[in-house]
Amino acid sequence: MAKEELECSFCGRKKPETSLLIAGLDAHICDRCIEQAHGIVIEESKESDSSDLSAELMLRKPQQIKTFLDEYIIGQETTKKVMSVAVYNHYKRLLQPPTNDDIEIQKSNIIMVGETGTGKTLMAKTIAKMLNVPLAIVDATVLTEAGYVGEDVESILTRLLQAADYSLEKAEKGIVFIDEIDKIARKSDNPSITRDVSGEGVQQALLKLLEGTVVNVPPKGGRKHPDQKFIEVNTENILFIAGGAFDGINRVISKRLNMQAVGYSASISDDVVDNDNLLQYIIPKDLKDFGLIPEIIGRLPVLTYMDPLDAATLRAILTEPKNAIIKQYKKLFSMDEIEFSITDGALDFIVGKAIEYKLGARGLRSLCEEILTDAMFELPGSDTKKINVTKVYAEQKISKNTIKKLKAVS
Ligand code: ADP
Repeated sequence: MAKEELECSFCGRKKPETSLLIAGLDAHICDRCIEQAHGIVIEESKESDSSDLSAELMLRKPQQIKTFLDEYIIGQETTKKVMSVAVYNHYKRLLQPPTNDDIEIQKSNIIMVGETGTGKTLMAKTIAKMLNVPLAIVDATVLTEAGYVGEDVESILTRLLQAADYSLEKAEKGIVFIDEIDKIARKSDNPSITRDVSGEGVQQALLKLLEGTVVNVPPKGGRKHPDQKFIEVNTENILFIAGGAFDGINRVISKRLNMQAVGYSASISDDVVDNDNLLQYIIPKDLKDFGLIPEIIGRLPVLTYMDPLDAATLRAILTEPKNAIIKQYKKLFSMDEIEFSITDGALDFIVGKAIEYKLGARGLRSLCEEILTDAMFELPGSDTKKINVTKVYAEQKISKNTIKKLKAVS
């Protein structure tokens, strides 16, 4: 065949009409057809992604979900178990074929109560990672009733859409983590006549979302883009996980348990009640007494709590999870061919400081960062190919000033 007669075997365009014609064994393909074919491949792989999701979800049983969580989260056994079941049931509900019986499986939205830094966000992140679904993390304190300064409740779904790369299908199976849900609790038990912008009104606005409804969502969020087209998002299959520290709820619990908040010496139930971890006795009524409206509590039917982090847990958080902080430093140094090690004494020192100054798990990272910044600055490119962090080394790097600074940010 003469050269000028070559043509694309797919669209028939002659070589001069194309920008590029690639030869195969018995055929040719032009640049435009390549692009089109590429588009088809991308679309197809998107579709198979979503069907993979269902297949994968069906395969993971609660115990396997828990095993996955164990790799990333230290302790928190009860919550990991409760979460595994809730997530399993949620996605079972999602994948159930339509049936004729009247049994409707309701959503298993979750509420986690626990001090800040005990791993609530990590729990939501790990579940989303395992399921390979989009996750939106939102702070309840920025939410206000529509029409007030702040973000409308719908903005939660804008975030989810963004996390899903604007795939509606993926967003509708995603997870929303609402942090600081306790901050929208009603401040007192007497509903006031004046409008409660940040409290009950927001709770009311959240209700429909939690339950399952179709919401018109501005894909780019907010009022800055008044011309944008709305996207209809159905929240029926979105899993909502709420979290909060609920400062002061211990008093509510202990009151219910018939004890005094302080100095509960003469309590009948002293022998069975673990006073150091009252959250484990939490029941939905305590949330109501704290100021959440009963309807919200009803739509977050799975209630669980986080254990406070003790020294052993903090120590394990440093070294054990799959992406533990110490493992990350090891990797960072190894990229410069530097062998990094740290002694038990230094690890205990870090944990000790985190406890002494109530820095929590978040403080562990900041402490490590303070200790290692000099080494990370000086060693790459130098002749030193080894660093062993001892307690003495760590002590030298942590001064009173740094602790003050860390306390301010944690
Ligand atoms: P919360 O949402 O409860 O305030 P986070 O989930 O943001 O807490 O946790 C803060 C940091 O501490 C995160 O970097 C997380 O990796 C770490 N962390 C907290 N609890 C645990 C835990 N139980 N296991 C592993 N890491 C934890």
